[in-house]
Amino acid sequence: MSTQTHPDVLEKLVSLCKRRGFIFQSSEIYGGTGSVWDYGPLGVELKKNLKDRWWHSMVRARQDIEGIDAAILMHREVWVASGHVAGFTDPLVDCRNCKKRFRADDPRIKGTPGTPDAQCPACGMKGTLSEPRLFNLMFRTFMGPVEDSAAEIFLRPETAQGIYVNFLNVQQAMRQKVPFGIAQIGKAFRNEITPGNFIFRTREFEQMEMQFFVEPGTDMQWFDYWKEQRMTWHRSLGLAEERLQFHQHTTEELAHYARAAFDIQFDFGGTLGFQEIEGVHNRGDFDLTQHQKHSGKKLEYFDQPNNRRFVPNVVETSVGADRTTLALLVNAYREEQVPGEEEGRTVLGFAPSLAPVKAGVFPLVKKDGMPEFAEKLAKELRAGFPVFYDESGAIGRRYRRQDEVGTPFCITVDGQTMQDGTVTIRDRDTLQQERVAADRVRSVIAERIGVGV
Ligand code: ATP
Repeated sequence: MSTQTHPDVLEKLVSLCKRRGFIFQSSEIYGGTGSVWDYGPLGVELKKNLKDRWWHSMVRARQDIEGIDAAILMHREVWVASGHVAGFTDPLVDCRNCKKRFRADDPRIKGTPGTPDAQCPACGMKGTLSEPRLFNLMFRTFMGPVEDSAAEIFLRPETAQGIYVNFLNVQQAMRQKVPFGIAQIGKAFRNEITPGNFIFRTREFEQMEMQFFVEPGTDMQWFDYWKEQRMTWHRSLGLAEERLQFHQHTTEELAHYARAAFDIQFDFGGTLGFQEIEGVHNRGDFDLTQHQKHSGKKLEYFDQPNNRRFVPNVVETSVGADRTTLALLVNAYREEQVPGEEEGRTVLGFAPSLAPVKAGVFPLVKKDGMPEFAEKLAKELRAGFPVFYDESGAIGRRYRRQDEVGTPFCITVDGQTMQDGTVTIRDRDTLQQERVAADRVRSVIAERIGVGV
């Protein structure tokens, strides 16, 4: 079997994702919303499986991390304390002619913006680009009926602040001892100037963040620990070894408060290449100290055995659910020739535990009691995992349709089933078929997909 992995699969994925119900453009019938996407029936399952995997490994499988679900709307002062009101900005230039906006560091801009020789990358006019000015990426809105500056609030641009402001609530309620962590999954919003590349950079997205609170002085040791843990987790999703790498932030790249930072990068192929999917940061005591200052409330941990108080240091792991979903799609996509068949097939080779549908169930033909048997089997299996029942078209086409959405197993009810109660299970990747008693199918597949893992 020859396999071809395309250098740039994004374009193919956008079309497959729409056609097969993974991802649609938001408000499509109105022409779409700029870089916002909706997850369809299969996409929501894929992303949910990913989030569940993260939640399980970060929260449920550990004694030292607690989960929370903080609100998106927070007190305005949170964003002053965090530095986002003053500093969460990108330099932006406008074209006076075509009214388009660009990031000042857009490589397509020729010449220095604000001077007569600068050329607009969109309309091609010279001398029409403004000088760079800072543009805040936070979405603003108003709380309550009065639209004045006192009522101005922001949609959160990251989930982390909801964790910092709840640090003592969680620590005291759960009687946790430092070192311990708080994790959450939630929406974040950024009015990105140059969004794009499908769900890679969008204006509304989901983050899975964990803040680990440690004793000062032990922060680098915990930073190294989390860096390795998170890379191991990405590998466990089935992301190819050679497509993952660390990128260490240089002194220039480091945020002013950060002591050290590594990105975990995935190779998206094509023009994107290696890009960040997760950041692991040693943030020192910056966040808690800032919130202490601005709220006037102490955010100190009381170390009882040693009878002392301190502001913990924070090691953060921050991963995008949408960006990692895109990594899963790119990693899984392949087109291949099947021996003895003219038509090739497209496969999404997801790890079975992440696949949106775990099994297709088909009657070989629509007669002789096969549909009834298959429907009953599908119903039984559905109690354990998502199953798709399909009786339309040639059996080969039904297999292909499931390959294209990444279903790892297809179960066929045929003539022999009606005699001895066995069915075939076809493996998506090896194309091997084996005969199994129908009443054993549920446990065989559950074991292979690692239900509960
Ligand atoms: P970038 O440099 O790509 O803008 P960042 O360094 O600002 O990202 P963080 O603030 O560290 O990103 O956010 C952590 C994670 O959140 C990123 O690794 C990414 O997976 C995700 N993320 C950030 N911005 C976006 C976005 N606009 N769309 C989708 N995911 C995003």
